[in-house]
Amino acid sequence: MAEALDGSIYQAALAALMERATANGLRVVPVAGISIGGCAEAIGTPRRGAFRRQAHAHNHRPDPLFGWICFLSTKPGRLITPSGRPSALLAHEYAHLLAPGSGHGER
Ligand SMILES: [Zn+2]
Ligand SMILES: [Zn+2]
Repeated sequence: MAEALDGSIYQAALAALMERATANGLRVVPVAGISIGGCAEAIGTPRRGAFRRQAHAHNHRPDPLFGWICFLSTKPGRLITPSGRPSALLAHEYAHLLAPGSGHGER
């Protein structure tokens, strides 16, 4: 079952990613929320939602869920390291939000 991850768990990790984006001259895109255990579209339902990989970012407009990052895993440890840093997976998905509408380009 999908559920929204408590913002306090990933706030610091996200701040680090946004700082990195700014340092690279990219326009920061706010994260609407992080869903674990499934897609944000399935929050509050017994479903997991549509998944092709272990994670995805909603980076296409128009999408009412634009800005959400969704993970199949229910373990916050897949997203945040023990020291509070963003995991490579979280960084990867956030990068998708920085390049709305595109797939795996340079950015
Ligand atoms: Zn999703
Ligand atoms: Zn990707």
